Amino acid sequence: MNQNLFDLLAQAQSLLDEGFSSLPSTPPPSLDAQAASILGEAATRLQDNYPYSHPLYAGQMLKPPHPIARAAYALAMSVNPNNHALDGGRASSAMEIEAVAALAKMFGWPQHLGHLTSGGTFANLEALWVAGQLAPGKKIAASDQAHYTHSRISSVLGLPFVSVPSDNTGRIDLAALEFLLATGEIGTVVVTLGTTAIGSVDPLDQIVALQQKYSFRIHVDAAYGGYFTLASNLLPETRHAFDAIPHADSIVVDPHKHGLQPYGCGAILFRDLTVGRFYKHDSPYTYFSSNDLHLGEISLECSRAGASAVALWSTQRLLPYTPGGDFSRGLESGRSAAIELNRRIAADPRFLAPIAPPQLDIVFWAVRSPEATPSASSALAQSIFDEAARRDLHLALANLPLRFFPPETFPGHSSGTVTCLRSVLMKPEHLAWLDAIWQRLDEATVTALSIPREPLF
Ligand SMILES: *Cc1c(COP(=O)(O)O)cnc(C)c1O
Repeated sequence: MNQNLFDLLAQAQSLLDEGFSSLPSTPPPSLDAQAASILGEAATRLQDNYPYSHPLYAGQMLKPPHPIARAAYALAMSVNPNNHALDGGRASSAMEIEAVAALAKMFGWPQHLGHLTSGGTFANLEALWVAGQLAPGKKIAASDQAHYTHSRISSVLGLPFVSVPSDNTGRIDLAALEFLLATGEIGTVVVTLGTTAIGSVDPLDQIVALQQKYSFRIHVDAAYGGYFTLASNLLPETRHAFDAIPHADSIVVDPHKHGLQPYGCGAILFRDLTVGRFYKHDSPYTYFSSNDLHLGEISLECSRAGASAVALWSTQRLLPYTPGGDFSRGLESGRSAAIELNRRIAADPRFLAPIAPPQLDIVFWAVRSPEATPSASSALAQSIFDEAARRDLHLALANLPLRFFPPETFPGHSSGTVTCLRSVLMKPEHLAWLDAIWQRLDEATVTALSIPREPLF
């Protein structure tokens, strides 16, 4: 437990309370022994989780919020502001505007229209909704490695959706994309900078170049990868993709993924301020307290947690988005850990490394099996995953296309998928823990490979 966090929070809370001290006092409901026992029960129930904040948790995209985000969120909860309208949260709305401007500045956007959302799904929904308003009837195109949310959102919005194949590195296939663009039916291309499965980065620079020949809108889904624009250790092709962000029409980034925030914090930014017109609506109840912009006037969600904005704003003040700063170094550290883990995997005859090295901080690999079939390899991956968990190392599994591996990795199998081990090395500490991670992976692999297996047919 972080006593320092609770001390700082108590200090900040009494300062906040002073602001309302002229009011007649009303004692808050006190928490009795029953409350204590319920909290104890909740604590015990919560033990039923993987240890997400520990560096030996190296599985899914889960990163602990920074303590200042926790403290700021808890502080704001005592006010419980609602960033829908200025009536519900003046200070937190102002902080949201500043926090979103810091995101826009990080992406090199001189101006923007945007706001926080409950997460990447809703942020992408707003992006595709605006895209549909601007080009009714035109298709949304995204790669087969894009987040599944895009096809689902398109169906919610009644927009036609087309999936574009990805290449053997998980990036959108440019030739296939251009073929589709030539039909004139594509209104918007979703470009993923950091796919959820493997962290591959679509070549945004080359997609921007296609706008010379075809007219279409570009939406960048950087829910996972957006913050990597700050990192200094990207591959040149990845750097070029991030450097093209200023040409995008809209961008989504999730501060609750790599921005050290508790869940409930995504963001949508539009480059063209005039798309605000699509959000226009009257509200009979709100917007009376000020003629200034109420964030609900440019957001599809109504009530939103002002506490999210306060947490993000506070975290940005402590860890500003400056290249070379502490925040950026944290991202670089996870990426270095991924490069090193991938290097060890590629050098280990028990494992099969993919064709392409990691573009961000996500590593995946298959397991070599005597049968050299996807099914035998998949079964071994599953058993290493289980053995690793027994040694407190928590990895993830993913079914990935065979084409991500060198040809003839699985002789006689050219299409289909294989279950791979996958590790998202999002925590800055993962680099220092890499030997500990590797040691457990090694032991888990030795055990898994020694377990007698049923013959596979
Ligand atoms: C996580 C993710 C999403 C969905 O965002 P949520 O915050 O989970 O709603 C969308 N796109 C990408 C690329 C993601 O990684």
